[in-house]
Formats: sequence, C-alpha cells, structure tokens
Amino acid sequence: MRCPFCGHEDTQVKDSRPNEDGAAIRRRRFCASCGQRFTTIERVQLRELVVTKVDGRRVPFERDKLARSIRIAMRKRPIDEDRIERIVNGLVRQLEASGEVEIASKQLGELVMDTLREVDAVAYVRFASVYRDFREARDFEAILGSLPSLPGVPIPGTTAGDGPASSPAAKPAGTKEGGVREAGPVAAKAR
Ligand SMILES: [Zn+2]
Repeated sequence: MRCPFCGHEDTQVKDSRPNEDGAAIRRRRFCASCGQRFTTIERVQLRELVVTKVDGRRVPFERDKLARSIRIAMRKRPIDEDRIERIVNGLVRQLEASGEVEIASKQLGELVMDTLREVDAVAYVRFASVYRDFREARDFEAILGSLPSLPGVPIPGTTAGDGPASSPAAKPAGTKEGGVREAGPVAAKAR
C-alpha cells in the first residue's frame, strides 16, 4: 500500500484487527519513509449496487457517500464512530440481501430514515430535512408526527412540575406541537 502522505511505495502493517461486528479488518500502517501512520479498512464487497436517480440516471452505489451523509446527520450527537460503522454496515447488508442490483435513490433515502429513526431522533430529522429538502414548517410537522418519541431530546414544557394543564405526554397533539417548536432551531443548526 502506497503512503498517502509522501507517496512512498511500501508501508508496513503494524496491527490488524477485525472491527466490532467482524465485517471489516482495520490495518494500522506505518510509513518508514516519512514516519506517518494511517489506517486501511478491508471489507467484502458482495456485488456492485446501482442507485437510480429520480431523473433516470444510474450511478454506482458508494458506501463512503452513504457513510458521509449519516456522519453529517450524527454530528455532535452522542453516537460513537463504531456505532456509525455498524449502522452503515447494517444498511449495506440490507441492500445486498435484498437481491436487487438496483435501488431507487428514494428507496435508499427511506431505508436510511427508517434506520436513523430508531437510533437518534435529531439525526433522523436532520437527515430527513436534507433528503426531503424541507422548505416549510409543516414538512417538519409531518416528519415529527411520524416519530414515536423523541429520545434524548429535551422538549421545554414537558418536564415534571408544569402542572396538569400542560401534560403533553397524555395528549398526542400537545406532544407534536411541542416537538415542532423544538425542531425548528435544532434542524436549522444542522445546516
Ligand atoms: Zn510516507
């Protein structure tokens, strides 16, 4: 493996280990020429997937691109890199297991949203806002209405001590309104 820093042709493997779910092997490499260290990741590619765009274009599925969009959605959320790797691996495995060679970009987006919804509400809303290109408040309302709950997202007015008049947990409509008010600035920060 060529050194990405100095271009030296030969680098040494210092350490090899499978990642947590065994789907990939990480190798720590060392360049004796410039002294830099870097990591390579080896993983099985079962087959080539193609993503079909809305305009009919067909582009090769890129795992890195998928991982990047998920990392952006997860930015500053309490989710570590290993967890993100496992999420991406899980998505890729689902795609590969589907038996289809092609996947519509819309279908791919929905698949990612289904996964993120289970993992982190904020990441889900961020991803959905980019993916669906939200322009209006009611787009957020629609997406938040689809959330079973907002784990890890404190919503002002829902904490104990507000009195019986505002107990939104008991009223789905109140919960939704509270969620929408909170979501505006949260999603805006993600941009
Ligand atoms: Zn080097």
